[in-house]
Amino acid sequence: MTQGGAHPSPSGALAAPEGFPLLAHEAAGEGGLVYLDSAATTQKPACVLEAVDAFYRTNNANPHRGAHRLGGAATEALEAARRDVARFVGADADEVAFTSGTTCALNQLAYGLAGLLRPGDEVAVSLLEHHSNLVPWLTVAKLAGAKVRYLVPDRQGRVPDGEIDRAVGSRTRIVAVSHVSNVLGCVQPVERIVRAAHDAGALVVLDCAQSVAHLPVDLHALGADFAAFSGHKMYGPMGTGALYARRGAASALGPLLRGGGMVEAVFEQGFTFKGFPAVLEAGTPNAAGAVGMAAAARFLEALGMEAVHAHGEALARRMAAGLAAMPSARLYGPGPDGAEERCGIVAFNVRGVGADLAARALDRRNVAVRAGAHCAQPLVRHLGAEAVCRASTGVYTSERDVDRSLGAVEAARQDAA
Ligand code: PLP
Repeated sequence: MTQGGAHPSPSGALAAPEGFPLLAHEAAGEGGLVYLDSAATTQKPACVLEAVDAFYRTNNANPHRGAHRLGGAATEALEAARRDVARFVGADADEVAFTSGTTCALNQLAYGLAGLLRPGDEVAVSLLEHHSNLVPWLTVAKLAGAKVRYLVPDRQGRVPDGEIDRAVGSRTRIVAVSHVSNVLGCVQPVERIVRAAHDAGALVVLDCAQSVAHLPVDLHALGADFAAFSGHKMYGPMGTGALYARRGAASALGPLLRGGGMVEAVFEQGFTFKGFPAVLEAGTPNAAGAVGMAAAARFLEALGMEAVHAHGEALARRMAAGLAAMPSARLYGPGPDGAEERCGIVAFNVRGVGADLAARALDRRNVAVRAGAHCAQPLVRHLGAEAVCRASTGVYTSERDVDRSLGAVEAARQDAA
């Protein structure tokens, strides 16, 4: 099986774009695709595509069900994937349930923990949250007569200590925050937030959808009770993800989906559940997807997450410096020189040009960025904008790609003049 691009590229990318079949196809000829939408979904290395293909070709059966040889092979492939994904985030295999993605895991967590909420209780979230880490909490809080309270970030997009002390207190039952903002790329002070929440007797849910692809993540060291992340944002297949529950915390969670595979025994008038993680994995699992997600985790481990982080941070600073020097551009969140930790995500607008028009102008130059509110409307409103453009890098992104996108931003302004 190929390593799928887990080697440096002469272009300055951390992993050769040629190892990603879609990028290899798109980059043919001059002016090939500059893909700066990795925060929405990453491109897939050949090793991930091959792992999914190999599962269907050699191991396909329903895991945890068949007594036959293939059923055993599928079960072993799924459980090996669980071990790899758990190791990748500093967790143990029995602390990880597979889900269809971050949104699914966060809904499971919100509905699964809703029983802890009483009238007058509070769920603390940050103003930076993706709708997937906001709408489920708004829903269950309302049902329980509880309230959602916001931690407000500073201009760099980081939640300051004072905000944590103000918003987390004796009424707080759950603190649900993103590790890395999907709009600004800034890293939140998670250890500090976990400490404050635990001091207040609250549980902590971390949305790691963006962090796992950019930072070394050690969930045991961070101390969170629960976490959610998606396979497709870390070079794995779509429709994959995981829910982490710290050993000891899982018992607080009720299952959202009920059916085959998650019950121990079923009677005419009742049933008993299996333990975690099986209790959260009702129905046939996406075993091929889990195998692909594990291949993505091994791919990132081979690159080294410290190197992945340094690469994304350097590209974000280069992009931010280029935009800050451009009178026609407005940069949001961390500046190019700030000391704060950041990932390869940069938000900006072209002055006098709507975000959507700017993104289309970039697209005409074969530079793919996303425009809009990025499923984070409260944050984008807080920034004083209706929409922003977002450039987000991957391990296949090079300095040359960033420079080409900066040229395209200049040209977008001129198009509009
Ligand atoms: N949370 C964050 C911070 C995200 O960036 C995203 C996706 O953009 C999500 C949650 C939802 O992830 P998914 O669409 O994979 O369920």
